[in-house]
Amino acid sequence: MKILSQDSYLKSISTCKCPRCHQGDMFEPMSLKKPSSLFEMKKNCEVCNQSFEPEPGYYFGAMFISYGLNTALFIAIWVGLELFYSEYSLTLLLVLISISAILLLPLFFRISRSLWIAIFIPYRAKEPSNQS
Ligand SMILES: [Zn+2]
Repeated sequence: MKILSQDSYLKSISTCKCPRCHQGDMFEPMSLKKPSSLFEMKKNCEVCNQSFEPEPGYYFGAMFISYGLNTALFIAIWVGLELFYSEYSLTLLLVLISISAILLLPLFFRISRSLWIAIFIPYRAKEPSNQS
């Protein structure tokens, strides 16, 4: 099983590691004292020097992944309310969706970018740095 091993794609994407070496962090550490840090991305991998923005507008497609994640969240909240509190109002549904979407925004931002770059950059274990 390579689900959670060093070369696992799932682990690399979920922890926002570099898609090439699965070791370097793609993002700055999250800090609530500095809200902009939630969306700050490193330019290159500090382990293998892989560029995290290979071209301008590279993460346009990640928007569609984020859209999919948010849709899944909305459906999960709606199904959860149907199952456990079937007399919910539309207002409650919208408030719950809004609050959870705002709270999960940094997470979805990071996961969608991590997944997007992992689609195009293949994993290469223990390769010496030769990127510019
Ligand atoms: Zn790397």
